[in-house]
Formats: sequence, structure tokens, C-alpha cells
Amino acid sequence: MANILVVGSMNMDIVTRVDRLPVPGETLHGMGTGFHAGGKGGNQACAAARSGAKVAMAGGVGSDAFGIEICRKLEDEGIDITAIARRPETTGIALITTDSSGENNIILSPGANYSYGGDDLEALDLSPYDVILLQNEIPGSVNRRIIDRAEAAGVPVCMNPAPVTGFDRDQLRGIRLLIMNETEAEVLSGMQIVSFKEACSAGRLLLQDGIPQLIITLGSQGAVYMDGDGKILEIPAYPVEAVDTTAAGDTFIGAFVAAYYGDNELADSLQYAAAAAALTVSATGAQSSIPAKEQVYAFLE
Ligand code: ADP
Repeated sequence: MANILVVGSMNMDIVTRVDRLPVPGETLHGMGTGFHAGGKGGNQACAAARSGAKVAMAGGVGSDAFGIEICRKLEDEGIDITAIARRPETTGIALITTDSSGENNIILSPGANYSYGGDDLEALDLSPYDVILLQNEIPGSVNRRIIDRAEAAGVPVCMNPAPVTGFDRDQLRGIRLLIMNETEAEVLSGMQIVSFKEACSAGRLLLQDGIPQLIITLGSQGAVYMDGDGKILEIPAYPVEAVDTTAAGDTFIGAFVAAYYGDNELADSLQYAAAAAALTVSATGAQSSIPAKEQVYAFLE
């Protein structure tokens, strides 16, 4: 069983449905509001835990009701929450408005996600973990400190550079495994990606920065794995009816890391991750649509 530490974001997604998005200054009636635990860190931790990994989560939530709720939900997944810091700032919040055509507006207030660091970070013992999983929803300086400390402790770091705004290739130093979608790979490589072929060219360029292994996901076109030894694997997506692609990438990442660092073969782990992500896109919601490993194995049979 993989022992994974996720250091990253936790948000409460507040989702309101409307007929159409409001124009500036306009007040509209919503058609119902849902509260969903989210954030790329929380989602990926959840995906890894449902894939059978032992998972600990570190990061910041507020000392408010959302922070309590997020921690309770993670704990229900069997995730160790002792390294989650309760901060005076509000919990990270995504205010999401979606209209009947599926168009949306999102306002993301990172709140306590951006105040995690300092003594909490220094007190984290990284040595027990098989891998540390990071995203770009907490300050780059915190990620850098984790990467440097993990390198000194001999623990590999897997980075998902999402969202890619404000992330550049200098921040890749010390990363063992980079997993990103095509948009993130385009920004980091400066190359346009429309298919597997361009993804390989972008991957080759990024490997020149000294990253040992990388994966580029391509939505319904699947994914590509590449490494510094010249290995290239194409991972086809499973043909499913895509109902809601939210958290596809987070599921792929959490499931892959759980499988691969849980001593499964590389190709099997990639196939497992694609199946888990296919199940996620077949259902609505973020964390609610992430499958457990039994569902993934049943799908693969
Ligand atoms: P992100 O959510 O970060 O944009 P992608 O859209 O690239 O990530 O999706 C991640 C993975 O999820 C893909 O590599 C694929 O395995 C799976 N996936 C995404 N969209 C579909 C789809 N429409 N049908 C089947 N699998 C999908």
C-alpha cells in the first residue's frame, strides 16, 4: 500500500445554478445551492485514498464551519488530517455559478490555503512517505520548501502544476514525476498540443529540464507517459459517455500515484488511472464522482 502525503489546497465549492449568468450589477434568483468539498489537494487525496493508499493531508483551512466540514469529510475517507493547520483566515472558497448551458463563473478565494507554511511546514516529518503529491494552489515558496526537504530526505515528489498561471519551468527543479494536462503542458513547453504527437514533442522538451518521468493527459484522447530513459507509453481513454469532466485530472493523478507507489507495474498503474478517470467523467460532481478501487476493478473486468 502506498503511503502518500498530499500538501495542497482544500476549498469549499459553493455552487449555485442559474438560468443565465448575471450581468454586472444585476441580481438574479438562483435555483438551488450546493456545498461541495474541493480543491485540487483535497480531490487528489480523496482519489488516492479511494484507490486504497494510506494518505495524509497537509495544508491550511480556516477556523470556520467549512474548515471543520472539510476535515470531517477527509477523515471519513480514512485520510490522516493531523497535519492540517487551522488558520485564522477563512477556509478557501470557490464561488461557482453555472447556467443551464453549462457555462460558469468562478471566484476562487484561497484564504487559509495561502497562509499555510512556516512552523507547520517545518514540523512536517516527510521521511515516512513513499511519495509527496503537490499542486499549484498553495504558494510556490511552500512547494519549493517541500521539494527541497523531500530531496534531502530521499522522498520523491510528484507535481501537478495546476492551475498553471504563475508556474514556470524553474519551479520543476527536484521533481521526480510531473503530471499535467495538455493546457499546462502547452504553457510550460510553449508548444501547441492537439494530439499525442505534439504531446510527445512537448514532453521531450520538458524532460530536457531533467525531470525523470512525466505524464501529459489529453482528455478524451487519453494520456502519454514519457521518461528520461526514452520510454513512451500511450494510454488510451476508455470510451464512456462524458457527463461531467470535473475532477478527471485529479482522479487520474490520485489513482495513478496510489497504484504506482503501491508497487504496481507502470503500465497497469496508467491503465488503472485511466479507468478511474473514465468513471469520474461518467458521473456528476467532483469528489462525489471519484470511484473506489473496487468500482475501478469491476470496470476493468
Ligand atoms: P483535466 O481534468 O486536468 O483537464 P484531462 O481532461 O486531461 O484532465 O483528463 C484526465 C484523464 O481523464 C484523461 O487522460 C483520460 O484518461 C480521462 N478522461 C478525460 N476526459 C475523458 C472522456 N471524455 N472520456 C474518457 N476518459 C476521459
